[in-house]
Amino acid sequence: MRDDINKAVLNALSECRSIDGRQVGELEKSLAEYVGVKHCVSCANGTDAIFLMLAAWGVGKGDAVFVPDFTFFATAEAVARTGAVPIFTDVQRDTFNMDVQSLDSAVQRVKNSGRLNAKAIVAVDMFGLPANYPELSAVAEKYGLLLFQDSAQGFGGEINGRRSGSFGDAGAVSFFPSKPLGCYGDGGAVFTNDTEKVEVIRSLKCHGKGENKYENVRIGINSRLDTVQAAILQVKFDAFKNRELAALQFAAELYNKHLHEKWNSPVVPKGFKSAWAQYTIRFADEYQRDAVQKKLEETGIPTMIYYPKPLSRQQAFKNLEKFEDCPNAEELCKTVLSLPIHPYITIEEICKTAAVINKF
Ligand SMILES: *Cc1c(COP(=O)(O)O)cnc(C)c1O
Repeated sequence: MRDDINKAVLNALSECRSIDGRQVGELEKSLAEYVGVKHCVSCANGTDAIFLMLAAWGVGKGDAVFVPDFTFFATAEAVARTGAVPIFTDVQRDTFNMDVQSLDSAVQRVKNSGRLNAKAIVAVDMFGLPANYPELSAVAEKYGLLLFQDSAQGFGGEINGRRSGSFGDAGAVSFFPSKPLGCYGDGGAVFTNDTEKVEVIRSLKCHGKGENKYENVRIGINSRLDTVQAAILQVKFDAFKNRELAALQFAAELYNKHLHEKWNSPVVPKGFKSAWAQYTIRFADEYQRDAVQKKLEETGIPTMIYYPKPLSRQQAFKNLEKFEDCPNAEELCKTVLSLPIHPYITIEEICKTAAVINKF
């Protein structure tokens, strides 16, 4: 894509609209169309995107927001930044996503405690697989909760033909370079069908602007996607939807086929499509996982442990009250290993990685 990206960058630079250039609006329009919602608002990163949607719906002090215990820190950090309290729920071992039973029980416990206002769910599309939004929506409806999507890893995923980003009240994505659709730095976006809230999001991301930037009607933040990043994303988005997503699916299927079944390949429920932000397998225990990782490293194959620690045990959250035990999250931190995957990985690379692992 080098020539196309170079051209897009040079165009953006020569147009001299480094903030809010035409590419930003064009990109927002085509992303909203792809996701299948009315509005897309770009911003500086995925963490801000989560914060902006929570803040636009009025989540704040005194509110409880339910998040999975097994995710990247930013999911709960964005909640805490609004003044609300993150409540950790367990996840399913096979899909890595929020466990609906655990969510239901956490909501009941928060309601019974009477100390916090049960307000919203932020579900995460872990490793690219959409969370179970049909089931999560039912819980949200049962208890009158807002439902938000942290789809930082999930852009391109689907449930029964409906794209990630379009579920619940709003969805947030990240364009961090390692995400399914990455730019050359930081970027993010919020997706929603809510035409009123979208105005609040646009205000919040620009210092709480009113009629214009120098009329400030609320306290906001400064969060925007640079024109040059939007220009790069326009080129990369074309490749993503036309080729890369299919290449990722092919790579994941090849891993599934070549890895011995005892390694617990990632489960994709019927009707779901993963965006394959990561290809993550589960081992019997920490010792086996660490031994395989070491062997792969010696062979020159890089792997990562996403994530080594559940959020509830992060120092930053050590003073939070616990409403649910999260044994699956604890276990996954000890047993998961993410293997190399990207749209340009070769068949030989996948076979070689699988062969090293299968030897164990
Ligand atoms: C990457 C990520 C974020 C944060 O996105 P940034 O663009 O890095 O701020 C939030 N949640 C999850 C699950 C992520 O993987």
